[in-house]
Amino acid sequence: MDIIDQHSETEIPQAEWDSPMFNLAQRQFLRASRLMELDDNIRKRLLFPQRAQIASFPCRKDKYSEVQTVFGYRVQHVLTMGPTKGGIRYHEDVSLGEVSALAMWMTWKCALMHLPFGGAKGGVRINPQQMSRSELQRLTRRYTMEFFNMIGPDKDIPAPDMGTNAQIMAWIMDTYSQQVGHSVPEVVTGKPVVLGGSHGREEATGRGLVYLIQDSAFHIGLDLKNATAVIQGYGNVGRNAAMFLEQLGVKIIGISDVSCGIHNSKGLPLSAVDDHLNEHGMLKGYAEADEISNNELLELKCDILAPCALQNQITEQNAPYLQCKMLAEGANGPTTLEADRILRERDIFVLPDILGNAGGVTVSYFEWVQNTQEFAWTIDEVNKRLHEIMVAAFQRTLLRSQRDNVDMRTAALLEGISRVAEAKLLRGVFP
Ligand code: NAD
Repeated sequence: MDIIDQHSETEIPQAEWDSPMFNLAQRQFLRASRLMELDDNIRKRLLFPQRAQIASFPCRKDKYSEVQTVFGYRVQHVLTMGPTKGGIRYHEDVSLGEVSALAMWMTWKCALMHLPFGGAKGGVRINPQQMSRSELQRLTRRYTMEFFNMIGPDKDIPAPDMGTNAQIMAWIMDTYSQQVGHSVPEVVTGKPVVLGGSHGREEATGRGLVYLIQDSAFHIGLDLKNATAVIQGYGNVGRNAAMFLEQLGVKIIGISDVSCGIHNSKGLPLSAVDDHLNEHGMLKGYAEADEISNNELLELKCDILAPCALQNQITEQNAPYLQCKMLAEGANGPTTLEADRILRERDIFVLPDILGNAGGVTVSYFEWVQNTQEFAWTIDEVNKRLHEIMVAAFQRTLLRSQRDNVDMRTAALLEGISRVAEAKLLRGVFP
């Protein structure tokens, strides 16, 4: 029986953050910390976020008499490593537990990549697709004010996540700058380039994922020119990953968004899919493919399966039926602990989320560095440095996995956690 299954449930004290997703993050952490025999005090310190703030606040709708009360969150998991860093999610399922799990994963991700940040995350529980542009702008500006004291270029630097984008970052940057009386581009990353955003940030998560799919393919002996891929989620991460894979000669045979999945074993030409998407706003109705459910999509026979949408997608129920050689996680938390065990047994190579999707925060780090130095890098410089950092982290993780005889997710967690633990021990306990 798995080591964590024997102890974890009784060991985690109930607390405000409790949720299935935060529980997954905690159980992953506990499993790794036990394997590395982590100092008990440090283990307890890292099990919960250091700071969390919840706000309920009003958002005036376009119909002036209507005011919606919404819930917003910002969680900072570890303040030991430097400022905290993490995206802001707009989604109707956002909760304190979900945001806390994402913040914890950000801590391990930044440490694994050797970036000088602790993990944070934020979110608002709304469906952005049901809001107009002006409503989103008012909501974003109010959110920024509610959390004004928590964020800042030396404190906590937000970025885009699901449901948010460069425009939302521009409104946050503008609201923050209005308050302090001068432009502060370095308060957020993932901004439009004209406002101090970095070249290459928009596509960095998908690009980084594909850099590591290339290394993983080499490692497992997969020829990408003859490979097929299925991608769940066709947003920022999934769309860019699909594009870079197509450029490498990989045949994309299945993709999905919130409306449905589409499948064509002969391949889906992305330019035609994009034309359809630009016209209709969703994949549903695309003519040159079979419409399938998101569950069916995950079980398609392919070489590379890349979940790039939501958490909790690869579970005990479908893990036995996956027909891929590699699971390349673009999304955060797409795989449950039980599914992980099944994937290990089935010898499916997993490129874990905190490594696979770390290209986004890595170029966010570049953006913050460029802003603080007031010096912009070229796209070639950004991509070259991104490649170096991604590949080095992949090699560290692979070596650790071979040395300690553990899977790639555990190896990535061990790498990240040990770096944070070392920093915590060196800083000591105040007072
Ligand atoms: P996005 O909002 O740009 O796109 C999300 C996509 O998923 C959309 O195509 C949406 O239609 C689809 N989707 C939503 N619900 C779905 C469902 N139930 N089934 C199938 N598809 C569904 O979001 P994003 O920025 O691409 O983020 C996707 C994932 O990647 C999230 O888990 C996020 O935390 C993670 N991530 C994003 C970044 C980044 O830089 N944007 C970085 C690291 C990790």
